[in-house]
Amino acid sequence: MKKITLVVPCYNEEESLPLYYKEVDKVSKEMKNDALFEFLFVNDGSKDKTLDILRKMASKDKRVRFISFSRNFGKEAAMFAGLYNATGDYVTIMDADLQDPPSLLKEMFDTLEEGYYDCCATKSTSRNGYSFVRKICTKWFYSIISKLSKTEMVAGARDFRLMNRKMVDAIISMKEYNRYSKGLFEFVGFNTKWIEFENIDRQAGVSKFNFFKLFSYAIEGIVGFSTVPLVLSALIGMIFCFIAFVMIIFIILKTLIWGDPVGGWPSLVCIIFMVGGIQLFCTGIIGEYLAKTYLETKKRPIYIVKETEADLHK
Ligand code: UDP
Ligand code: MG
Repeated sequence: MKKITLVVPCYNEEESLPLYYKEVDKVSKEMKNDALFEFLFVNDGSKDKTLDILRKMASKDKRVRFISFSRNFGKEAAMFAGLYNATGDYVTIMDADLQDPPSLLKEMFDTLEEGYYDCCATKSTSRNGYSFVRKICTKWFYSIISKLSKTEMVAGARDFRLMNRKMVDAIISMKEYNRYSKGLFEFVGFNTKWIEFENIDRQAGVSKFNFFKLFSYAIEGIVGFSTVPLVLSALIGMIFCFIAFVMIIFIILKTLIWGDPVGGWPSLVCIIFMVGGIQLFCTGIIGEYLAKTYLETKKRPIYIVKETEADLHK
């Protein structure tokens, strides 16, 4: 019989966890003739009772495993830890807030069992339940990254996907520090079937992503999967050199014909400000890539474990 590992990143999810466990347990009973379930909760440095709940769940149910980080490392690190430690033939990533419907698991499992697909991924058709600003920004992000990156990012794609062992191994073979999983999933290739569903509201607790976290995640995606911004900054530089050249010719001719060499001080100040701004902007772009390279060369661990379910039996 096949084993499915459910990787669940949890950051302050004390309210959602019992609901999540109950729902998935129900599905596991429905699928008891198809597959065994392994729950792999990753506690991403929660400050609430998440860890206590996980300890209790693991001592009651042998299928429950957990990895608890020494601090908050972010959802990307939690997903990596989960995939890395999963023992299942199939592995899925699910949010703890039940926004990824467990009822789809059966269909996803059957798809992989057919043998043709390596992965069954999901995307939500709407973003109902998220704020207006978040919806707009997400839309912009996908339109920008689709132009900048060769790796195709599917708009509305969730991290909820069932993958076979080959695909999981391909993903964990990429040990980069700056992780952007939505890109990595596409990068590794393999046959993926997409299932769509209407977005569901978080069942308990609040979203763990604020505007700044999402913004830096978006930058992570762009810097991680495109070098076009670097080319763009060089292009902007070239365009401005050309404009300056035309202006110099114009001013020389104007002075020779009409005189008045000192006119135009205000416009000059505006130009200095603008060019200065563009230079800083381009330096910033280069700095962003440099910073990522710097962090990458340090080879710091993606996550640090403080406790796992194995510690319960000591
Ligand atoms: N999460 C995490 N670490 C973080 C932030 C979030 O492990 O630093 C988990 C969180 O517990 C949840 C999943 O990632 O299981 C998705 O988070 P959330 O539902 O808050 O995001 P949203 O649905 O608003 O995008
Ligand atoms: Mg959520």
